[in-house]
Amino acid sequence: MNNNIKKIVIVGGGTAGWMAAASLAKYVNNSAEICLIESSDIATVGVGEATIPNIVQFNRNLGIDETAFIKATQATFKLGIQFENWHPQNKQFFHPFADYGLKIDQVDFHHYLYRAQQTECSSQLADFSFACQLAKQYKFAQPHANPSTPLADYAYAYHFDAGLYGQFLKKHSINAGVNHLIGTIEQVNLHPDTGFINNVALTDGQIVEGEFFIDCSGFEGLLIEKALHTGYEDWSHWLFCDSALAVQTTRVNPPEPFTRSIAQSAGWQWHIPLQHRSGNGYIYSSRFESDEQAKALLQTNINGEPLGEIRKITFKPGRRKQIWHKNCFALGLASGFLEPLESTSISLVQTAIAKLLTFFPDCSFNQADINEVNRLHNLELENIRDFLILHYKLSARCDTPFWQACQNMAQQSHCHNPHNYTRSRSRCSGVGRAPSPQSHSPSMLVRIQVLAAFEHIERRRVYALYLPRI
Ligand SMILES: Cc1cc2nc3c(=O)[nH]c(=O)nc-3n(C[C@H](O)[C@H](O)[C@H](O)COP(=O)(O)OP(=O)(O)OC[C@H]3O[C@@H](n4cnc5c(N)ncnc54)[C@H](O)[C@@H]3O)c2cc1C
Repeated sequence: MNNNIKKIVIVGGGTAGWMAAASLAKYVNNSAEICLIESSDIATVGVGEATIPNIVQFNRNLGIDETAFIKATQATFKLGIQFENWHPQNKQFFHPFADYGLKIDQVDFHHYLYRAQQTECSSQLADFSFACQLAKQYKFAQPHANPSTPLADYAYAYHFDAGLYGQFLKKHSINAGVNHLIGTIEQVNLHPDTGFINNVALTDGQIVEGEFFIDCSGFEGLLIEKALHTGYEDWSHWLFCDSALAVQTTRVNPPEPFTRSIAQSAGWQWHIPLQHRSGNGYIYSSRFESDEQAKALLQTNINGEPLGEIRKITFKPGRRKQIWHKNCFALGLASGFLEPLESTSISLVQTAIAKLLTFFPDCSFNQADINEVNRLHNLELENIRDFLILHYKLSARCDTPFWQACQNMAQQSHCHNPHNYTRSRSRCSGVGRAPSPQSHSPSMLVRIQVLAAFEHIERRRVYALYLPRI
């Protein structure tokens, strides 16, 4: 008997919902009906405009034309992230989506550079990255078509208008056969024996049945949490920021080909350049700064005229204990949230969709597959979490109570979680190697860059280890 899923219901029409709809329409539409429900009374989060390079492939896989996408979403190109004020001496550093130099005899380039720095060489890693040099000059070029040239050895991502990207994917998904239903869900009905979701009831009386439900309802996790009580793991003892203020402004300068992350007294500020405006915000810890202080700080540090009121968003850093529970799969904010310091949230939507497609269920909902998806996702999220903590810990800033707490938090974190950044740091500082990158985790080179920026790779031992080979 055919046990295939015949109807998928996606709840939520934010970035996550429409990314899921477009992907499922492409890969499973011929075997299942897809319906997306979104409320016209509950707004999307309205932020999430800086991405990392896998978005380029995501769009390509959907058959999206890049030029059409850029026009429709007012997108700009992004070569990486510029970190400002993170270092106590106020040095900037740039995280490019790229390598540095070339391997020589299978030894990574940075080892040679550190050895050279032992003598008279004052060059930095960034001097050997084409992407860093492009960004420094506010220029952008797409990687060269010939993969054997160093001019091809970098990747790029986009900044885009979150609302316009949602609209763009909506149109794409509806054209691909997704049914779009506007309505507000007031109740999620479970099967009395299995606890699986049977259907959702809308305020207008409609009942929408389904076999598989994708929860993209935002922070509250309408299905995965409010109905199924899957549980949330709170990571605010490691990541102190729990609030954000966001405001769009007119653009005053030509768009930089990078996101700016500017460390501030109790967190960090983002600047995202789009074609038609800029996105700005301040992510901060409410334990260390009041909303009024944060607002004043943001207002003082933005360029351009505000295009609306400053909006406040609060969040609990952490993750849903399982993104897949019974016949419900959570994506986006419904699955958890880590601050966008490395622009990883939309990428996490993408990688979760990839796992869903790889382990796409039938109506038997094989528990081993569900466990495996949860395991892989949790691993990925832990890697990102540790990478984010690394930024706060390695910044030796201690000029405010927030930054002092970041330094102290390190010890606690290490005690509680042996797989955390502290371990990464000790391994890296010893031999110039980054800890084993898992699939989808921040790459070794990215970690090397952050460690190097904060001068946490001990050159002496790297030098000693590799000297005979150079
Ligand atoms: C301050 C901040 C900055 C961020 N910056 C970045 C960034 O730079 N890069 C990045 O990758 N990510 C970033 N993110 C994350 C990013 O915004 C989200 O991952 C992304 O927008 C996905 O959101 P979502 O679709 O899960 O939720 P939402 O956008 O909140 O959408 C929820 C949807 O659910 C619907 N809904 C809710 N309840 C009901 C109901 N009862 N009935 C029917 N429909 C309902 C709503 O109408 C809405 O359509 C940021 C997040 C925050 C908070």
